[in-house]
Amino acid sequence: NTGGHSSFNDFSLKQDLLRSVKEAGFERPSEVQHQCIPNAIHGKDVLCQAKAGTGKTAVFVLSVLNQLPDDAKPFSCLVLCHTRELAFQIKNEFKRLGKFTNFKVKAVYGGVEESVDIHTLKTKKPHILVATPGRCLSLIKAKPSVIETQNIEYFIIDECDRVLSSNKMRSDVQNIFYELPRKKQVMMFSGTMSDESKKTCRKFLQDQIEIFVEDNSKLVLHGLEQYHIKIEEKQKISVLRQLLDQGNYNQVIIFVNKQDRAKYLSKYLTDKGHDNAFIYRNLDQSERTKIYSEFKEGKNRVLVATDLVGRGIDIERVNLVINFDMPQITEDYMHRVGRAGRFETKGQAISFISTKEDEKVLAEIQSTFSTQIKEYNLKQESQQQ
Ligand code: ADP
Ligand code: MG
Repeated sequence: NTGGHSSFNDFSLKQDLLRSVKEAGFERPSEVQHQCIPNAIHGKDVLCQAKAGTGKTAVFVLSVLNQLPDDAKPFSCLVLCHTRELAFQIKNEFKRLGKFTNFKVKAVYGGVEESVDIHTLKTKKPHILVATPGRCLSLIKAKPSVIETQNIEYFIIDECDRVLSSNKMRSDVQNIFYELPRKKQVMMFSGTMSDESKKTCRKFLQDQIEIFVEDNSKLVLHGLEQYHIKIEEKQKISVLRQLLDQGNYNQVIIFVNKQDRAKYLSKYLTDKGHDNAFIYRNLDQSERTKIYSEFKEGKNRVLVATDLVGRGIDIERVNLVINFDMPQITEDYMHRVGRAGRFETKGQAISFISTKEDEKVLAEIQSTFSTQIKEYNLKQESQQQ
């Protein structure tokens, strides 16, 4: 249930935002938008957990854009997230929903020459900056600093449980936070949030409202059919090819657990005539951005990936996720399969189960999220063709 109760007109949004919301095709606010926006738009700190694909980005994008005055100072808003691809995507959402405003938005992240970012920030002075923590800190510490931290009035962390669970990123965030003015609005979002990470998040918040749209046990993704297939490791490729040949998808992401495996699987599929692209952390940044953008535009139907794109990434046409390798952490499963079936579109997730460990994770997922992951019937599916 993602809406039905209210309309974007109820939020006292500025006209130019209502217009872009309409142009984006948003008819009704989702549950999380309905619950968060009225608070966020008035400057309240927010801690928010709602499942993947329910429109959390628009919560902070609209709330910030609505609050920024016409003469907003540069660097009024800083958004942090854990991957470069997500930073890029969030920047684009600011652009799309801010289309009829004059605010400038830029994204900076590692893998790009820092001197390029320094030049961009100095000359373009964006009102809204989206960044990964490492690069952000480094740009703040640059002499002279190119991020005017004293202007930051809105501070947002997307996928906050992921950002704050990595020691390096958490320490970067703490160092960034230390540079911020005392008076500011802080908002944090994630699709999953353990009690532990809630505690960590609260250290950054003041008088916040907390919105947990679903507790973990109810995190079943609506519109998503989840299956598993029990097979041996060596059968994985042929079963995968069978699934690809059936072609019951618009776009598919195939997740593996290691970069090497992404590379080899991708090459193997290419050799067998399955066009595909692959993406993982150690690729060149310009390459990563290109692959991500091309896949988003629909140039390839098949993407082989690591957990790099497991969280936050929103690609409308992806309606099938295959866990070629079962993730080792229950939460990662929820994020990965959340890539299919975004915003109530129908999607499918199929997981290959080949080890005792895989079975354990599968059982854990079913109990933690009280969801049923049925056995997939390969034969039957192919007979339907
Ligand atoms: P989350 O961060 O919660 O995983 P996103 O913010 O990435 O979800 O949004 C998922 C998709 O839903 C995006 O393509 C976004 O444009 C779309 N979306 C967001 N809000 C609405 C809405 N009210 N109506 C229709 N689509 C929406
Ligand atoms: Mg998100």
